[in-house]
Amino acid sequence: MCIFCTKEYDEKTTYIIGCSSITEIPLLPNLTTLHCSWTNITEIPLLPNLKTLHCYNTNITEIPLLPNLIELYCYNTNITEIPLLPNLKTLVCSRTNITEIPLLPNLTDLYCSHTKITEIPLLSNLTTLECWNTIAKNT
Ligand SMILES: [Zn+2]
Repeated sequence: MCIFCTKEYDEKTTYIIGCSSITEIPLLPNLTTLHCSWTNITEIPLLPNLKTLHCYNTNITEIPLLPNLIELYCYNTNITEIPLLPNLKTLVCSRTNITEIPLLPNLTDLYCSHTKITEIPLLSNLTTLECWNTIAKNT
């Protein structure tokens, strides 16, 4: 059980760790941290203040344009694309169907092993890169 299940959240809620029973994420304008990994959700709503998103091991197919997102852990999902997330610093998107990494100006940590990407763009702030089992070459 989590506060999704007990409905103990409101529009002021900033932090949620969802349990495995959740199937849907409500639209919470002030949410900054969302953990919904290992759940049956299929969609992430447009959460304008979200900074940290853990949605790995789910059936989501899309990451919405989350303008304030800093950390994204979306490995082992069905996503095919990473949107242009201007504030993203950490991206863990291994074991997905993505084919490219967009030009993310603030990215420092990128984990994209077991994907279909063929190229890593020039990311000037990148300090950590893991890209096993891709055919990417660092350009
Ligand atoms: Zn719950």
